[in-house]
Amino acid sequence: MDINATTIERNFRLYTLPGLLALLGGGVLLLIDSSAESTGLFDQMIAPLKRGIFWMAAGLTLVGLAWALYRAWLEFRWMQGQLLGGCANCGGPVRHLDGRYGPYSKCLMCGGKRNGWH
Ligand SMILES: [Zn+2]
Repeated sequence: MDINATTIERNFRLYTLPGLLALLGGGVLLLIDSSAESTGLFDQMIAPLKRGIFWMAAGLTLVGLAWALYRAWLEFRWMQGQLLGGCANCGGPVRHLDGRYGPYSKCLMCGGKRNGWH
């Protein structure tokens, strides 16, 4: 596997968002110790809240990981040449976005942009 700037840039583009999501969830999970025995009245009062945040953070982490896995699967299929997306440059999958100048597509693999949705 060749490591070059393009690969790094692609990985960055592919995994930054899912990674951030998982990190955020994981960070909150570490901060919240839901199993801690609460003795104080205040601790008992916020216990349900803590449990709620705990499960939300757990969900966030799972979603982030699943998203990253999905992106990894996309990249794998793209590298095998099995994935034909709308990108004119590399045939990679594109995201459909709305910009200031109307709808455009941004390639997940090479970052190329094109007008309109493909
Ligand atoms: Zn591309």
